[in-house]
Amino acid sequence: MNRILIECVQGDIAHQPDIDVIVNAANARLLPGSGVAGAIHGAAGPGLAEECRALAPIEPGQAVMTGGHGLPNDHVIHCLGPVYGVDQPSGQLLADCFRHALQLADQAGLESIAFPAVSTGVFGYPLTEAAAVAAGAIRETMPTLEHIRRIRLVLFTAEDLAAFRAALQDSGLAQS
Ligand code: ADP
Repeated sequence: MNRILIECVQGDIAHQPDIDVIVNAANARLLPGSGVAGAIHGAAGPGLAEECRALAPIEPGQAVMTGGHGLPNDHVIHCLGPVYGVDQPSGQLLADCFRHALQLADQAGLESIAFPAVSTGVFGYPLTEAAAVAAGAIRETMPTLEHIRRIRLVLFTAEDLAAFRAALQDSGLAQS
């Protein structure tokens, strides 16, 4: 759609070597943690945390970009998703994460970006709702993108993958 390929795959966000920039489901202080942040910082090495230090803290919905360090990707975009039911309005803040990350990548002239299911782990966002928000934000932002050609959603489990596939279909977005 709009010359942009949208993919939904099961896998590890830290193992997407053919993608220019991967998105981190970060914490406010941009520190290594559990889940996605743990996997990304673990693969990137300590240089990533060092670079992050100058950019922290960030607010829910905000996105900042760093280098990829030891990752196979040139860049990482760190998004702070909302804690479900605490950071309000949660839906708007989660949509902001996807929109801001896409805009940041596009402004940097990058062609491919991979997202995890931001906020659906420790931050407690229900998977089906989060998938609908993500799909809606991608659909609304896509027409404004000039460089992005590939958007990949990387889900950890088969169940999460099915929920995101369904949300993309409901939004009328192409998938593969
Ligand atoms: P948040 O704090 O934003 O909720 P988490 O990292 O706790 O972020 O989890 C976000 C989602 O990413 C969860 O659905 C979790 O199952 C999934 N996840 C955890 N590790 C990985 C990984 N290495 N690659 C892709 N997805 C992951």
